[in-house]
Amino acid sequence: MSDQREVNFGTLSVWGGEEDAQAHGATQVPVVHSVSFGYEDLDEWLQVALNQKTGHIYGRNTNPTVQAFENKVRALEGAEAATSAATGMGIISSALFALLSPGNRVVSLKDTYGGTSVIFLEFLPRFQVDAVLCDTTDHEAIEAEVAKGCDVLYLESPTNPTVKVVDLERLARAGHAAGATVIVDNTFATPINQSPLELGADLVLHSATKFLGGHADALGGVICGDKELVEKIFHFREINGATLHPMAAYLLLRGMKTLHLRIRQQNESALEIARFLDAHDAIERVFYPGLESHHGHEIAQRQMRGFGGVLSFMLRENTLDAVREFLPRLRFAHAAANLGAVETIAGPPATTSHVECTAEERAAMGIPESLIRYSVGIEDTEDLIADLDQALV
Ligand SMILES: *Cc1c(COP(=O)(O)O)cnc(C)c1O
Repeated sequence: MSDQREVNFGTLSVWGGEEDAQAHGATQVPVVHSVSFGYEDLDEWLQVALNQKTGHIYGRNTNPTVQAFENKVRALEGAEAATSAATGMGIISSALFALLSPGNRVVSLKDTYGGTSVIFLEFLPRFQVDAVLCDTTDHEAIEAEVAKGCDVLYLESPTNPTVKVVDLERLARAGHAAGATVIVDNTFATPINQSPLELGADLVLHSATKFLGGHADALGGVICGDKELVEKIFHFREINGATLHPMAAYLLLRGMKTLHLRIRQQNESALEIARFLDAHDAIERVFYPGLESHHGHEIAQRQMRGFGGVLSFMLRENTLDAVREFLPRLRFAHAAANLGAVETIAGPPATTSHVECTAEERAAMGIPESLIRYSVGIEDTEDLIADLDQALV
């Protein structure tokens, strides 16, 4: 399949990226566990080593199963190139350390994934890279910071855990006017719901651990976009060694075959559940971009094809004790630090997205103590609603 999307997302989820990976007539991508790849012809080996011919040499650099996974995501994102890493954080840190140099400036959001914020606030400053984190929904403030000088504009939408939405097209335009490389973490939306490259981003990345894999059984990260940028990131990743394992790549590939079906179900369920909770007496507030009351509803409607499978809600009794009592009452939700799986998963930011922060820091970020992140699985919607209803006594 070529660089651009010629067919629809469902067909791409099933067939995308697999054309060069099958062997011996197998209809499924094999898990190639070999660390190295042998050559009888030294000249051919040399050509592959010099990148003049496609092929594989050593498993830390490339692997056929891993490449099939990268190609499937590349096809879904409509990108020129893709590269992967062992985890989402592996690809995020590889991208930032590959693209930034001392003296550079990053502009990003206060609501980026917790681990990403740690890179911005703890690690980049050690290399004389300044990172300015803006209020996620204040587009004017973000544009003003970008205009002061920006080498990388790093965005995420929707965000964790209050599901905030930023206008990707508007901010990508501002980033490019300042000469920045624009990166978008598309983990919450998935390529089914949102195409950041079409909205102007240079690079789009995923924690494949979440919706792409969808079964909470494999870690992975992937980044797609402009070939030259992706090659720079690949070069750093092959040296730092945060390589995606072929077995994990296989599990992610297999999970992605049903991506479009899962996301369709999760979009529908999440919207219905958000509306149910919004009308419930025991709920103070629901955060979901599909609700008309959500601050970013209009932007989400414009830039997303579906509002995604994650919502969060605040119990009327705003204490961690209320959460402590509520969570065990749910029959059909793992209380766990993950999202995007076929099973519903629920947890408070204190033990999930913002485990790195103190209670004071969470309060300063507008994250209430009784907030619960609820990642909707593919169970029947009516069963999930009944489960929430009986738990909200
Ligand atoms: C989980 C997550 C990450 C980090 O991914 P890992 O695979 O856990 O390293 C990054 N961004 C978002 C939005 C995430 O949810």
